[in-house]
Amino acid sequence: MPQLRIPGPTPCPTEVLEAMGWPMINHRGPEYEKIIHEVTDELKQVFQTQNDLYILTGSGTGGLEAAVVNMLSPGDKILSVSIGAFGDRWANIAKTFGANVVSLNFEWGRAADPDAVAKAIKANPDVKAVLVTHNETSTGVTNDLEAISKVVKDAGKLLLVDAISSLSSIDVPVDKWGCDVVVTGSQKGWMVPPGLAMVSVSPEAWKAFDKASMPRFYWDFGKAKSFLEKGQNPWTPAVSVVYALSVALKMMLREGLKNIFARHNRIGQMTRDGIKGLGLSIFADEKYASNTVTSVAIPEGVDGKKLRQLMQSEHGIVLAGGQQHLDGKIFRIGHLGLVSEDDIKELIAALKITLPEVGFAGIKQ
Ligand SMILES: *Cc1c(COP(=O)(O)O)cnc(C)c1O
Repeated sequence: MPQLRIPGPTPCPTEVLEAMGWPMINHRGPEYEKIIHEVTDELKQVFQTQNDLYILTGSGTGGLEAAVVNMLSPGDKILSVSIGAFGDRWANIAKTFGANVVSLNFEWGRAADPDAVAKAIKANPDVKAVLVTHNETSTGVTNDLEAISKVVKDAGKLLLVDAISSLSSIDVPVDKWGCDVVVTGSQKGWMVPPGLAMVSVSPEAWKAFDKASMPRFYWDFGKAKSFLEKGQNPWTPAVSVVYALSVALKMMLREGLKNIFARHNRIGQMTRDGIKGLGLSIFADEKYASNTVTSVAIPEGVDGKKLRQLMQSEHGIVLAGGQQHLDGKIFRIGHLGLVSEDDIKELIAALKITLPEVGFAGIKQ
């Protein structure tokens, strides 16, 4: 089986994949009620939150749209803090639904500066909410969410967080940092196939919900809340993915959050060291380099597409390319969820063989 080293979908443990084949049940019956309550409680442990939490059937982007349409009204001014493709996507969703978006964009590869966020809020005292990407998967950068959240909450603004590629793998203490709406997705560090977005909603977010008038139907948090009280979802959920999540969560809680975060930290560092050891460089500002995805600058004269093709055909390792203007400029290594030191050793060894075949003369011995 190829080693899937892209930042989602990620490899799944066999037990998780087997759960995808369990028989169907009535999603309005007692078995589903039991499983949805159990999974929601376990998710709250990983989110480190006592806030309400909903499992939505859809990809992560659906969760981002849900955050926007449930919190805002058309014409509301919001601050979008973007450091890459996913931050830009979220701002676009907000614009699509009529928000008045003030953009604070940082150079791709860099982290957001919390002081600049504070200044932008000061310059726009009427912003209602701040949209932040915790871990920007397109550039391999993890923002200092703790510092940003402090600035946003000190200013009394609603904090909406895209933690799709961090939560589950990197520490995101939702309550401690005062994050109002936090979104993640099953196919990232959760070791689960695609199909679910998980979203937490704070009491302050519920107050915003009461006033929010953007059009919404499928993503309505109000419906999610009233149905969860009955142990159901408003619409037919991706039952098989919920099964898979129930198995993965048990594995995660057995490993322990601290151990999971430490493993990602270790493997992130090991990946960066391995890449630099080959004579390549990290695209991201290393101070903020992500422990779930590493972006590697493609050196002059190297054909990045060919590199990825050979890595897959000769070594069975699947890497991700760059998005938008980073296409051909970087490649990305996903190391989130089911990943071990041995996986990274194998990957670095394969790169060492492949790089000279695609025109890289700088390999270190
Ligand atoms: C993957 C990802 C998304 C998009 O999620 P989909 O499940 O592909 O819709 C959004 N934001 C971040 C940070 C991501 O990593």
